[in-house]
Amino acid sequence: MTIIEELRDNRNLSDDGLLTIMHTDAFDQELRTLADGVRRAHYGTDVYLRGLIEFTSYCKCSCFYCGLRCGNPEAQRYRMTKEEILECCAEGYALGYRTFVLQGGEDPFFDDDAISDIVASIRRQYDDCAITLSIGEKSYESYKAFFDAGANRYLLRHETADEAHYSMLHPENMSSQHRKQCLFQLKEIGYQVGSGFMVGSPFQTKEHLLADLRFLQELSPDMIGIGPFIPARNTPFAEQEGGSLTLTLRMISILRLMFPYALLPATTALGTIHPHGRELGLQAGANVVMPNLSPAAYREKYAIYDNKICTGDESAQCRKCLEQRVASAGYQVVTNIGNVKR
Ligand code: SAH
Repeated sequence: MTIIEELRDNRNLSDDGLLTIMHTDAFDQELRTLADGVRRAHYGTDVYLRGLIEFTSYCKCSCFYCGLRCGNPEAQRYRMTKEEILECCAEGYALGYRTFVLQGGEDPFFDDDAISDIVASIRRQYDDCAITLSIGEKSYESYKAFFDAGANRYLLRHETADEAHYSMLHPENMSSQHRKQCLFQLKEIGYQVGSGFMVGSPFQTKEHLLADLRFLQELSPDMIGIGPFIPARNTPFAEQEGGSLTLTLRMISILRLMFPYALLPATTALGTIHPHGRELGLQAGANVVMPNLSPAAYREKYAIYDNKICTGDESAQCRKCLEQRVASAGYQVVTNIGNVKR
């Protein structure tokens, strides 16, 4: 049995085994083929859509990698109104989206009541849809309030599971421990939880990636979002090298083999570093795409990294474009809520 077959069959290689796979491109072809086989066994050729609404570019955090960090005076700031958010949902629903992802910086303007009110309004109108939040680290009580208002999924990447590495990417007032605690609280409350990490973030080693895989085994999330680190101007990491396509694809395949049930997005960041990055991501084992539903006027302002794609397109264009891309990769977009199949 090859080492990749062993990973597929036991899902639990030794640290040495995983490091061996991560360190070389020798297994990439076999990895991709077996990962695609596992994804087809669990999800067929279905690809789920998530409509992404980037509703605020204000943020009180100062993560070193992110273009929206509060320490970036050049960042363009905007907030969508509740009415604008609901309009996005209406447009998305008509386009066939059954999941709305509200993502934003950690913006104190949207306090618990404001978020709960927005969630409840969406929930009232779209009972057949999933409402996903991706708004960072909050208290247990806040998470509970959003859940009670009708939110049912939450995306919070752990970014890196290694504490020392985490502290190289974030200011002192943020900690890996707290972010992980948030993830376990979200699970406890009953959310379907998504976590994940950046590939090729500054100072990252293969051992850090191994720690990411081990942490994910502990957390057992429903969704795992990964994408290459891409430098953002006016940040401390503006001049750092970005993450590579091959390593990101390799990690997607490893994740598919280790977490056969998982919802794995082919991310916008992957599409940003290569013209067919998302198609390649799907072929490596991903089964979710997250087209942008934000009004085109705001898109450019949500600049977490440089040269982000799809900033000029209307939502309907994004939907069509992605449908074609998914088909060209050999899969098909499906219009349903897209729950995890454990
Ligand atoms: N404020 C929310 C949403 C953050 S944006 C939160 O804290 O969860 C979503 C993800 O984009 C982040 O979790 C991070 O992994 C990724 N990201 C941020 N800056 C990036 C960059 N420069 N390159 C690639 N990915 C980045």
